[in-house]
Amino acid sequence: MKPYDLVMIGAGILGLATARELHGRHPSLSIAVLEKEPAAGLHQSGHNSGVLHAGVYYQPGSLKARLCVQGKVLMERFADEHDIPFERCGKLIVALGEDELGRLADLESRGRANGVPGLRMVGPQEMREIEPAAAGVRALHSPGTGIIDFAQVVQAMAADLGSGGVPVLYGHEVRSIQRRDGVQVLETTGGPVAARQVISCAGLHSDRVAGLTSPTPVQIVPFRGDYYTLREEARSLCRGLIYPVPDPSLPFLGVHFTKRIDGNVWAGPNAVLATAREGYSRTDVNRADLLETLRFPGFRKLARTYWRTGAVEAWRDVVKSAFVKELQRYVPEVRSDQLTFGPSGVRAQALDADGAMVDDFRLVGDGDSMHVLNAPSPAATASLAIAGHLAGEAADLFALA
Ligand SMILES: Cc1cc2nc3c(=O)[nH]c(=O)nc-3n(C[C@H](O)[C@H](O)[C@H](O)COP(=O)(O)OP(=O)(O)OC[C@H]3O[C@@H](n4cnc5c(N)ncnc54)[C@H](O)[C@@H]3O)c2cc1C
Repeated sequence: MKPYDLVMIGAGILGLATARELHGRHPSLSIAVLEKEPAAGLHQSGHNSGVLHAGVYYQPGSLKARLCVQGKVLMERFADEHDIPFERCGKLIVALGEDELGRLADLESRGRANGVPGLRMVGPQEMREIEPAAAGVRALHSPGTGIIDFAQVVQAMAADLGSGGVPVLYGHEVRSIQRRDGVQVLETTGGPVAARQVISCAGLHSDRVAGLTSPTPVQIVPFRGDYYTLREEARSLCRGLIYPVPDPSLPFLGVHFTKRIDGNVWAGPNAVLATAREGYSRTDVNRADLLETLRFPGFRKLARTYWRTGAVEAWRDVVKSAFVKELQRYVPEVRSDQLTFGPSGVRAQALDADGAMVDDFRLVGDGDSMHVLNAPSPAATASLAIAGHLAGEAADLFALA
């Protein structure tokens, strides 16, 4: 079995972008991508809000901040080059009362420190001009925030790899990795594959795949997010993106109104513990996944700290009127009969053993393998910049020529 120079695990947006970047920088390397599913982008990269984040929220100096701002520029260029539609529809982050103004001002400072273009505070009159149906006393307007269909981006990346001679091997779930004589043998559901070096971007399974080469300091806890879709007659209630001021102690942004590039408007997602890592509905239960989460000390600590928030989210998840009430705080005119349930996504959130949610993108390397352990939102926006970062790290760690 002839080893590939490099194998990527995971054909989500990160694995594909990174394989593409490495192929571009090191055309003489033989590279393959292994994906357990029959197609690319079937998990997080194909189940998200489709927002091209501008970089407002993230801690200045963090990887998230830097790579989001860079990545958005690269993603828009990629979209232009591949005829993928995107739109800078703008985002309004809305403070509902005086008590949220301090946090809104903090967001403005962060956004400015991160170099987000065009950020501006707007008062009620301008808010109504931008989003006539939105409530609130003041808002932060990010005119450059955009929308795109990341599933289309994934398809274009996979096609680029195909035409560059980089195979994406579907139906290859990596189950174990053994090191033998300077080569790693990956046992997969599609047969064994050998590689000199391995990089994994395995999303909801990133901790498990990283654990195949060395123990990991974190565990993935899956959080499901459900959306409601606005009926056609109600779409005019949202012209772009209407977001709440997020709770800085939580990694999720709160339910929001998102215009989609196909003209739909989604409201959501909420955040409830998913009962399976790839459980897209309330009834999907994977006993092993669930027990693993419940037994993890980090999750138990998190649950003790956030039980109240978790209980409210769980209540809203099953009681539509409670979800609608939350939405009406931001768009008072929206009515329950204008909202149909679905779709849903599951976020991979890394948690450490102390119960702290890992905020920034996180990467670990151990000689001849590298693993992305935490790549939550805005990793789709940032994917091309993350790929550049990973390719740089790989060149150093693997001494790539
Ligand atoms: C509800 C939701 C809303 C979001 N909204 C946004 C947004 O608006 N903007 C934004 O920028 N980001 C958003 N995100 C985040 C973004 O979607 C993710 O950060 C990004 O898609 C992560 O890409 P990935 O390639 O790391 O993971 P994934 O897309 O999950 O891909 C991982 C791949 O690895 C494969 N895999 C796993 N284990 C194995 C194995 N053992 N062997 C082989 N293959 C394996 C999986 O099948 C999968 O295809 C959102 C995410 C969610 C869930």
